[in-house]
Amino acid sequence: MTPYDDMAPPAKGSASTTPLVDGFGRTVTYLRLSVTDRCDLRCVYCMAEHMTFLPKAEVLSLEELDRIATAFIGLGTRKIRLTGGEPLVRKGMMDLIRSLSRHLRSGALDELTLTTNGTRLAEFAPQLAAAGIRRVNVSLDTLKPDLFRTLTRGGQVAKVLEGVAAAKAAGLAVKINTVALKQDNAAEIPDLIRWAHGEGHDLTLIETMPMGEIEADRTDQYLSLGEVRRELESFWTLDEIAHRTGGPARYVRIAETGGRLGLITPLSHNFCESCNRVRLTCTGTLHTCLGQEDATDLRAVLRAGATDAELMAAIRGGVDAKPKGHDFEIARRQPAVARHMSTTGG
Ligand code: SAM
Ligand code: SF4
Repeated sequence: MTPYDDMAPPAKGSASTTPLVDGFGRTVTYLRLSVTDRCDLRCVYCMAEHMTFLPKAEVLSLEELDRIATAFIGLGTRKIRLTGGEPLVRKGMMDLIRSLSRHLRSGALDELTLTTNGTRLAEFAPQLAAAGIRRVNVSLDTLKPDLFRTLTRGGQVAKVLEGVAAAKAAGLAVKINTVALKQDNAAEIPDLIRWAHGEGHDLTLIETMPMGEIEADRTDQYLSLGEVRRELESFWTLDEIAHRTGGPARYVRIAETGGRLGLITPLSHNFCESCNRVRLTCTGTLHTCLGQEDATDLRAVLRAGATDAELMAAIRGGVDAKPKGHDFEIARRQPAVARHMSTTGG
């Protein structure tokens, strides 16, 4: 039971009965909620080796996260993805998930899911399945123990593989997300796809995005998925399929493996016209575009004692100003936005 279980259904004509539509007519139905900036790994493209994490007081409490998520659901959000940092390292994470799952049971929410690095999935998979989670995205860039240790600065790939197996055993659908890295895993991509499809998992390839200052020069690691696709097509048959998620991924079916491959190309394709999503950082800042600096401070609204109606009005204001599109440009060798992916939530 949470303080919101007995929240009255929205009155007709109230702020919450009209959908959340931005200034360009796009309806927002998908919230990516970062629940922590902390992580047990330090992926080279995501974090600096020595990160300074936020003081606890700046991070939304579990109750605040629940309240904001519930306000979004009241405004028509149908899908919530929990992310981070690493969501499964946040203390009390399962309490938040169990609490939010009441919206699945009521039918107000179609899907509650999470993106995880998988290191703690073996421990949590059964509880996640019991709470109504049906799918998880697991980030995995290599199956090679040594390379995994290098890319994550100390992680053990065996733990992730154990987590993926536990998720499958618990009945969760798993999608593997792989960042394509020119030097590190380019040659391994076919093996990763073969492994994922062999296990019955979709795999999505992601291009590196210029987010936040890190030590390495990321243009060295940028690998165009157009190039990867041409390489895969030299030995496999890739059939276009209609599957879309409202996000930047395009999907193909590989005839030889029978599995589905997603390609996320934020740098080489424009997907902004159909964007249905917004992001909330773990400090309560609403970002309506991953590649722009626009921001609405919902934590300030909440901590000033806002009513649910006032909170919803603040969300509407933020969404109304959602930019038309992003502005990533790898050639500039500068992060398009200064914030790290781990703060925004990938
Ligand atoms: N820790 C969880 C994980 O790794 O899945 C969730 C958060 S992580 C920031 C979400 C996703 O963002 C991961 O799939 C990660 O590979 C991706 N990511 C992080 N930094 C990125 C970057 N600069 N470019 C592209 N993808 C990035
Ligand atoms: Fe952690 Fe995920 Fe970032 Fe890797 S990508 S450092 S696992 S938050």
